[in-house]
Parts: sequence; C-alpha cells; structure tokens
Amino acid sequence: MNRAQPKASHFINGAYVEDKAGRPIEVIYPATGEVIATVYAATSEIIEMALASAVAAQAEWAKVSGMERGRILRRAADILRYRNHDLSVLETLDTGKPLQETLVADATSGADALEYFGGIAAGVTGEHISLSGGDFVYTVREPLGVCVGIGAWNYPTQIACWKGAPALACGNAMVFKPSETTPLSSLKVAEILHEAGLPAGVYNVVQGMGEVGDALVTDPRVAKVSLTGSATTGKKVYAAAAAGMKHVTMELGGKSPLIVFDDADLEDAVGGAILGNFYSSGQVCSNGTRVFVQKGIKDAFLARLKERVEAAVIGDPLDEATNFGPMVSQGQLDIVQRYIDLGVAEGARLITGGARLNIDGYFVQPTVFADVLDDMTIAREEIFGPVMSVLDFETEDEVIARANDTVYGLAGGVFTADLTRGHRVVGALEAGSCWINTYNQAPVEEPFGGVKASGVGRENSKAAIEHYSQVKSIYVAMAPVDAPF
Ligand code: NAD
Repeated sequence: MNRAQPKASHFINGAYVEDKAGRPIEVIYPATGEVIATVYAATSEIIEMALASAVAAQAEWAKVSGMERGRILRRAADILRYRNHDLSVLETLDTGKPLQETLVADATSGADALEYFGGIAAGVTGEHISLSGGDFVYTVREPLGVCVGIGAWNYPTQIACWKGAPALACGNAMVFKPSETTPLSSLKVAEILHEAGLPAGVYNVVQGMGEVGDALVTDPRVAKVSLTGSATTGKKVYAAAAAGMKHVTMELGGKSPLIVFDDADLEDAVGGAILGNFYSSGQVCSNGTRVFVQKGIKDAFLARLKERVEAAVIGDPLDEATNFGPMVSQGQLDIVQRYIDLGVAEGARLITGGARLNIDGYFVQPTVFADVLDDMTIAREEIFGPVMSVLDFETEDEVIARANDTVYGLAGGVFTADLTRGHRVVGALEAGSCWINTYNQAPVEEPFGGVKASGVGRENSKAAIEHYSQVKSIYVAMAPVDAPF
C-alpha cells in the first residue's frame, strides 16, 4: 500500500467521504492483477452532496480576487511537485505506467497547469470599448458556475488538473469524476488543493461509472461539462449537455498521422514514432498511430525502428529502469490483442512484437506492422494500445489526402529537413495539434484539442480561459435616450 493512498472514495466539501452503499469498484494494479484498493460508486446522496457543496462554494469563490485564487493554485502546484515521488508511485499503481514516466509526466504536468493558470488568474479581465457620443461598453469575464470534469484512465492526475486549474482560476467550482479504472489520483489532487487553501466545496471528486457521469452532466445546476474519453462517449455526453444548453469541452480519441519524408533525420523520426506510439504503452489519445513513411527512407526506417523497439525494457513499472509497462486492464489488453490478430489476418506485415508476455499483469509487446493499407482496420480505428501501423507513400499531395482521410482530427506530425515543406504539410493537416520534427509534446502553454470527431474546445493555454468563462457586456449611455415616440 502506497503511503499517499487516499483515505476514502469521495472528496466533498473539503473532506474525504465514504459511503459503502455504492457499487464497489476494485482498483487493480495492472502489472500484477492485484487488488490494491476498493472505492464505492457515488450514490444519489453522494452526487447531491457534491453538487450542493459546489453550488454553495462557487458563489463565494467567484467573489475571491483572481490574485488570491491564483495564489492558492500556485501553492497547490508547489505541494504537488514536493510530493512528486509519492504521487508518481500512486499513479503507477493506479495505471501501471512505468515510474520512469510518472515521475516526469503526471503530477509534474498537473503542477504545470496549476502554476500556469494560477499565474493567469489575476489577468482574467474584460475590456473597454469606446463608442460615438461618449457612450461606451465594458465587458466582464464571468465564471460559468459549476463545471463537471470527467476523466479517462490514461493520465488521471494530469486530467484532474488540466480541467480543474483553468476552471478554478476563472472562479468556477468543479465536480470531477475520474475513470472507474483509475479512481485514486484525483482524490489526492483534491486533498492537495484544500491543503493549499482552497475553500471547501470548490473542487470535489466523486467516483463511479458512466451513470454517475450522466447524473452529473444532466443536472440543471451544472453549467459546463469537460470530458476526456472516447468519441463514442463524447457523442453521448455532448448530446446530454446540449439538451441542457451547457458549455462543453470534448477531448476525444484519434487516429493521427505521423509523416516521415525521405530527407528526415532518421534517428529523430524513429524516436518521434516511438514516443508517438509506445509512451504509456500506447494509451495516449494524440498518438501518431498511422506512420506514413516515404519510400526512399522506408527500409532504413523500419530496420532502425525494429532495433530500437526491441531494446524496450518491459517489466516491473516500479523499477525505474523499466520504460514499457502493461496495459491498464485485462479489457484493454484483450482489445489490443484483437487488433493485432486483425492486422495479421488482413495482411499487414508484423515487424516486431505482437505477443502477450508470459508473466502476471496485462503486458503485450510493443508492436509494429509494415505494409499497412489505408482501409485495413488497424489503420482506421483507434486501438489505444502499442500498435504502430507503417504505411508507404510517394508524394506530398498524396500523403496529405490520405492523412486527412479519417473521421478524427486530434493531432499530426511531420518529420522533414525542408522547413517550408514542414509548415506546408501541417498547414494542410486537419488536426488540432501538430508537431514538426517532434511528436506528442504538450506543454501547458500550448492549446490542446481536436477537430472533427476528436472533439470541441481547447485545453491548456490562454485558450482554456475562453472555455471556462463567459463575457458579459454592459452598454453605458452618456446622452439622453432618443426614442421615436
Ligand atoms: P471512455 O469514453 O470509456 O470513458 C471516459 C469517461 O467517461 C469515464 O470516466 C467514464 O466513466 C465516463 N462515461 C462513460 N459513459 C458516460 C456517460 N454516458 N455520461 C458521462 N460519463 C460517461 O474512455 P476511456 O476508455 O476511459 O479512455 C480512453 C479514450 O479516451 C480514448 O478514446 C482516448 O483517445 C481518449 N482520450 C482523449 C484524450 C484527449 O485529450 N483528447 C486524452 C486521453 C484519452
């Protein structure tokens, strides 16, 4: 048991709350299959308690100056960084991701969001617009009210912070429901925010499956819903939110293209493809899972890729030397195995991997297919696992058309030594986040989000402020009212 383990299932109104009347949810360490904790899904009483405290707290929180709100968020960022090691161990137990990753990509990324939005909070202001005759308009940037955050299981701490930090900076309250697969880390985020001085009720965490999420989304007291999850869930949640005319941010799935031209630096391109397919065992929404490689560099690319992928250190995620861990669950492992079997059956050429590991836990090898064709299932559907598809191409126009031939539009990348081509290609990609000569970098300063079926809205950066606040405009007349009768 990790010493940072949360004390109960829910965090409401500034304190841990337990209610064992809810459906039990076992938390499984994916590297061993061992049950490490049990939480209980929120009952309707727990949901009511969370929403009522958020409503009450938000009214007061909105009156706190941006400066003071920001100070609390920045204090929480410091605590997250100070406790990074314990929080990273907890994240590893919750998700199975290697400690080598969680130490640098989870609590630290959450802390970046809290620090960034803590810094920006005092600068969330309106504007003054002069009109003829001395009249003027001023605008006020107001909070939305109570926001609901719903998380996926791949980055539990990061998602809790990426949603919470901008929401709180703008004066909203949040009720956050983590994924039922990884319920632990967001409770620690709530605990730390309150330790940093956040008033009770401003950030609450409740557990549960989809039905708890739905109860939150459809509650009339909720002004906004921010979901990170699959496109299928996104459509349901977006529709439910629309029925209540609520604001939404939808961070959904993808099948992003990563394009490697003949003139690319080979090591960088291979490194980018590895980062964009195998980090977090491939459980990253923005992964470049369709790797288009120009014919002239194909053989060298595949040879070097195979060599480097086979050097992955797979095993105990708590060992800092491990750089490739298990899938998050047995269910996800089964999905990945099914896609690998489909890849073979549909005629793709297996370059490396493809097998489960004969040890405890939900391990499957990092897998690369070559000679993948556009209409193969592994090239069309999001797998959300360590399965890379390498596709051949010849010309720039051809690859752009094929890269865009997908319902998704989350991300895209290009490796080339030709500066103008790099900009031209990302300019033509239908994607929310693009990279030139790197892949999957997502610093908090950069807007992040998708187009097409990959979602609406943007997280992080100044763009997130637009999605967690609304503008009120006030017209002030300086002359007598000139009415027609
Ligand atoms: P999922 O869609 O199954 O679940 C996401 C969350 O939605 C969970 O907390 C779940 O309990 C909740 N949920 C399910 N049904 C609901 C409903 N009807 N109403 C309200 N909430 C409901 O996704 P997952 O399997 O947890 O995560 C993997 C998916 O998330 C992948 O598609 C991946 O691409 C995507 N993802 C996207 C991003 C991004 O930023 N774009 C980041 C990480 C993951």
